[in-house]
Amino acid sequence: MGLIRLVTPHLCVDTVLDLGAGRLRDLGLDTLLLDVDCTLKRYRQPQLDAEIGAWIAGLRAAGFKLCLLSNGGRRRIRRFAGQIGIPAVCRACKPLPFGCHRAIRKLQAVRQ
Ligand SMILES: [Mg+2]
Repeated sequence: MGLIRLVTPHLCVDTVLDLGAGRLRDLGLDTLLLDVDCTLKRYRQPQLDAEIGAWIAGLRAAGFKLCLLSNGGRRRIRRFAGQIGIPAVCRACKPLPFGCHRAIRKLQAVRQ
């Protein structure tokens, strides 16, 4: 897979809240690697919004595998991961694929 294909969106939404369990299943997905800054929260915001926490809890309850995947530092990103109870890969060096591979191994997920 070339880098351009790797970083080209397959789907764009305004907010992750548009990605409910039913829609994700329709897309054939059971695993999400989640960016933190400007995806789950605004850049300088110290906490996740309650509705984002509820979205994550709902997906976990529905059996989705979730992992944070951030270029951010370990201490800061692990704090978010701890808040929501999912694993995290920090300093992921996106858009390079190494962090994605680490997250996939961490979740024992299958790469498509
Ligand atoms: Mg981001």
